[in-house]
Amino acid sequence: MRRRGAPTSREPQPQAKPGAPLVQKAEVADWCKEHVVPESVCTRCNASLIPEFQEKGDWCKEHGLPESQCIECHPELEAKFEAMAPKTAGK
Ligand SMILES: [Zn+2]
Ligand SMILES: [Zn+2]
Repeated sequence: MRRRGAPTSREPQPQAKPGAPLVQKAEVADWCKEHVVPESVCTRCNASLIPEFQEKGDWCKEHGLPESQCIECHPELEAKFEAMAPKTAGK
């Protein structure tokens, strides 16, 4: 059995309304921690996304990544994606 790194104090969450939109959930859903991009555009996890980027002309052949995710070519993207990353240490 594996446990995830940091022990966090789990607080009981008093929200159990079925049908109520959970804003929190949507916030963390779309993120690939491994590649530091939104999961929905992570071509390294979803190779099927690649042709879409290639069609749009958003593709870095050299690095095998969408140009819009290629921090090798665009180092400034790193900060952008870091800013987008969901923060786990919330309030
Ligand atoms: Zn990924
Ligand atoms: Zn590149």
